[in-house]
Amino acid sequence: MGGLDYLRTELEELERAGTALHPRTLEGMQGARARFDGRDVINLASNNYLGLAAHPRMREAASRAAAELGAGSGAVRTIAGTMSLHVELERRFAAFKGAEAAIMFQSGFTANSGTVAALLGKEDVIVSDQLNHASIIDGARLSRAEIKVFPHKDVAQADRLLEETKAPGRHQLLITDGVFSMDGDIAPLPDLVEVAKRRGAIMMIDDAHASGVLGTNGKGTVSHFGLDPKDVDIQVGTLSKAIGVLGGFIAGPQLLVDWLVNRGRPFLFSTSAPPAAAAACIEALDILEDSPDLVNRLWERTRFFKKGLQDLGLDTGWSQTPITPVIAGEETKAVELSRLLWEEGVFSPAIVFPTVAKGRSRVRTIVTAEHSEEDLQQALDAFERVGTKLGLI
Ligand code: PMP
Repeated sequence: MGGLDYLRTELEELERAGTALHPRTLEGMQGARARFDGRDVINLASNNYLGLAAHPRMREAASRAAAELGAGSGAVRTIAGTMSLHVELERRFAAFKGAEAAIMFQSGFTANSGTVAALLGKEDVIVSDQLNHASIIDGARLSRAEIKVFPHKDVAQADRLLEETKAPGRHQLLITDGVFSMDGDIAPLPDLVEVAKRRGAIMMIDDAHASGVLGTNGKGTVSHFGLDPKDVDIQVGTLSKAIGVLGGFIAGPQLLVDWLVNRGRPFLFSTSAPPAAAAACIEALDILEDSPDLVNRLWERTRFFKKGLQDLGLDTGWSQTPITPVIAGEETKAVELSRLLWEEGVFSPAIVFPTVAKGRSRVRTIVTAEHSEEDLQQALDAFERVGTKLGLI
């Protein structure tokens, strides 16, 4: 035994526990119905909320940019990899979010982790919702700041933590997801903003699952609550979910963007997005502006499906958005629910501990604007059969 051999034991342990991951392979385009591992299924597993990942206009924009400008950018942003398309995309995202400026990262993950790590240091404190995304947690660890976690959506506790950790010269960051990725509920942003303001903390929101989903034309959580974008110091968006491509961005004051150009490590040390990705993201914003019906359709389909699941008597937790979990309880039950649904032609992955709390294992469903009522009814019929079999109904 030596070297990497210890991983075999660890992996065997995961297999025994039934929590080892074996990603399915998408054979063809992302869509409401798609082919994974040789099986045509109703796809309730993607974050392709608006169906933009394979939208004809997006494919056309990406192809055109690749033909005209090449496959790659060839450098990091701060050396020779800032292309006109990146600059245009940042200008467009700033306007979309109602912010002074925006900066693009390679992913939502690096936008979060790079920004949190660039803003706080070991003298500072980060007050973070218990269910915030892994990229926020990693950024907080990288920053070496003190990390204080408040119970999910508990604004009074967040306030108390800010009060307790206040000290002269100490920077405080209050950070929350806009829409929580495993439960589909929405952060109490107006109350958090009030607390941050009162305590003099930086307010940051990760709108990965809210951009393109919540608010007017999918502008996000700030718009959903009718807040002034200036009330939130930092808005994070991903380009990988509703926008349908790949990348992340930070929107906020010019001062913040100037700092991240100098200290955002993924911006400084990792190559910028290829032209095709940047061009497709710009096209996505054009589509969002041209077709407000797209977001409306997403919500219409969401209401139909959520009500269908609830009418069956399934436990959908506290979801308020197109992300709807179906809580199964024990890990093995969630895994079995997912497997039986797959056999019925419905792809809805199991989410188990440690991603969610023990005893709250689930399958997660995500409705997109591309799903027809027929697709969703078919999925509901499968949930009814399988849910009955497993005693969930
Ligand atoms: N934040 C949240 C809440 C997310 O769910 C995700 C994606 N899983 C990210 C950030 C990271 O985004 P990306 O996939 O663009 O890296």
